[in-house]
Amino acid sequence: MLEEAVAKARREYADRHPMSAALHARAIAVMPGGNTRSVLHFEPFPFRARTASGCRIQDEDGHTYIDFLGNYTAGLFGHSSKVVLDAVTTAMESGFALGATHAREVELAQLLCDRFDALERVRFTNSGTEANLMAIGTALHHTGRSGVGVFGGAYHGGVLSFGSGDHPLNVPHRYVQAEFNNLDALDQLFADTDLGCVIVEAVQGAGGCIPASSEFLQELRRRCAASGTVLIFDEVMTSRLSPGGAQRLFGVAPDMMTLGKYLGGGMTFGAFGGRADIMGHFDPTAGGALTQAGTFNNNIVTMAAAVAVVSELLDDDRLEQLNERGDRLRARLASVFKESDRGFWVTGLGSMLSIHAEDDRLLELLFHHLVVDGLYIARRGFIALSFDIGDAECDLLADSVTKWLRNPL
Ligand code: PMP
Repeated sequence: MLEEAVAKARREYADRHPMSAALHARAIAVMPGGNTRSVLHFEPFPFRARTASGCRIQDEDGHTYIDFLGNYTAGLFGHSSKVVLDAVTTAMESGFALGATHAREVELAQLLCDRFDALERVRFTNSGTEANLMAIGTALHHTGRSGVGVFGGAYHGGVLSFGSGDHPLNVPHRYVQAEFNNLDALDQLFADTDLGCVIVEAVQGAGGCIPASSEFLQELRRRCAASGTVLIFDEVMTSRLSPGGAQRLFGVAPDMMTLGKYLGGGMTFGAFGGRADIMGHFDPTAGGALTQAGTFNNNIVTMAAAVAVVSELLDDDRLEQLNERGDRLRARLASVFKESDRGFWVTGLGSMLSIHAEDDRLLELLFHHLVVDGLYIARRGFIALSFDIGDAECDLLADSVTKWLRNPL
């Protein structure tokens, strides 16, 4: 019965998306799976976006969706922020392929160091993955140790992935893995006498929007300090959960942190940084042994966009309000899921949330129902609110879910 319902939903989806189907047929001939960002794939094929504005995306078939995916947290400012557009346009008018240092990167570094307590020094990269690779490498160099502590379910990039299943593309560090959010499991990590760093998301994002407990992070902090292990917070997603990031929200100070996603205003972005003594390994004037390469590390488009984001868009009150809106949406979904008793639940914190189902086929059916209703979330249930999503949009989503739960098959 469920199988049939899923097959029917996919068929109807395909019928409603002939243009996307044609593009998919072309795509699979030249890109494996027709795709160059695996997470965007869903069955039978993803719709192809044509235009987007505010919180709405229109596909090649003419359907419009309210965008609750928010580019997996990177789209915090919606699709057409005038502030970002103006900043990028102005920057580009004075030359955009500089192979030189410039003022904007200084301004951005200053803004980020002012904003995030853990950042005494910072450097830029092209992605969150790269930022995490650099942070881990730097921490191992600093400690002269080989072990990298990670948690089950964590995602720090396509080559630093610790969800269930195999990850043949992970970079070959010596990982020591423990269960997330389990205080007792920390013994496993710290039994390793050569543990150079531990990297953690205060709220596991791709792992299903699972917040750590404060006690877990505090104990991790204490044990890292006691053993001389560098504690890295991956704040690529979580830094949007409060004006000072998750570290301020949870009251735990990491030695290093990484950033990415929304801070680039939609442009490609990453940053890593932390204590001045650790980051000092990159200082050639102080005999630092490390160099950081990257043609586009200080590219003018990202630097300009990120300066505008931090100085003009990241209003503390607005950010708090958005996180409160997310909390309200999560509470409402939690209550309808509980009432329906169909094996759904919701997790998250603030503007990041995730819908889960005991049976993935039910989650797929809900996903397709939402697509028909013009509501776009991740196939796996992930939702990240943008500034352009208001209470009215949240009500539409919650109403649509409620309606579907009454009669899911
Ligand atoms: N860390 C976390 C917590 C992430 O969620 C992501 C991206 N989903 C990354 C790192 C990797 O960032 P990017 O996709 O920019 O490489």
